[in-house]
Amino acid sequence: MKKVFGVVGLGRFGFNVAKTLAEGGAEVIACDIDEEKVRQIAEIVHKAFILDATEEKALKESGIANADTVVVSIGENIEASLLVVVQLMELGVKEIVAKAVNPLHGRVLERLGISRVIHPERDMAIRLAHSLLVGGFIEEIPIADNYSIFEMLPPEKLHNKSLKELDLRRKNDITVLAIKRGERFVVNPSGDEKILPKDILVVLGNREKIGFL
Ligand code: ATP
Repeated sequence: MKKVFGVVGLGRFGFNVAKTLAEGGAEVIACDIDEEKVRQIAEIVHKAFILDATEEKALKESGIANADTVVVSIGENIEASLLVVVQLMELGVKEIVAKAVNPLHGRVLERLGISRVIHPERDMAIRLAHSLLVGGFIEEIPIADNYSIFEMLPPEKLHNKSLKELDLRRKNDITVLAIKRGERFVVNPSGDEKILPKDILVVLGNREKIGFL
C-alpha cells in the first residue's frame, strides 16, 4: 500500500516537501491557512485543505492525522507549530517531523519526543560548508533514470552506525560501494563496517531517495 504523508504549512519548505513526495509517487494530504498556497499545491497532491491547523476539529476532519508521517512546516508562529504537533501526537500520528526556526523551538520540539526535528537553514549551511571543504559538492555520475553514483558526506544520523544496522539497501534503495577514509579506500565494505563522521561515501542510489537521507 502507498505510504500516506501529511504536510501542515506550505511555505517554501512545506510546499517543496509536499511536491517532492507527490512527484515521488506518495499520497500526500496538505494544508495551509492561506488559500493561495493551498490552491498552488492542490493540483499536485492527493488532497489539499484550507484550514487553521491549530483548530483540533479542522485538523481531525482533514484526515491528516491518518497519515503515516506528518511534516509540520510552520515556522514563524512557534506557538502554532507546537499546538499542531501536540494535537497530532494526541491524534495518534506515529511519525511526526517538524521544522524548527531557532534552537529553542528545536529543543521544545525534541522534548515533545517527535521523530525528527529539522533545522533547514542551519543544516543546509553546514552541508554547504562541508561540501566546500571537501572541494565542491561531491560528485554525481548519472547511471540510468534517476540513478546515479554519488560521492557524499554521511548525514549525521548515519554516523557511527554499521552498514548492517543501517540497512540502506533495503530501506533506502542505496548501495554503499566504497568508503573514502582519509587516504584509504574501503571498497565494497562489509556489513560490519561503521560509517565515521569524516568518511566520504561512494554510493549508488536514487537521486530522490538520497535526498531523504
Ligand atoms: P518557509 O521558510 O518554509 O518559506 P515561511 O517563513 O514562509 O516558511 P512560516 O511562518 O514558516 O512561513 O509558515 C509556513 C506556512 O505555514 C505558511 O504558508 C503559513 O500560511 C502556514 N501556517 C501558519 N500558521 C498556520 C496554521 N495555524 N494552520 C495552517 N497553516 C499555517
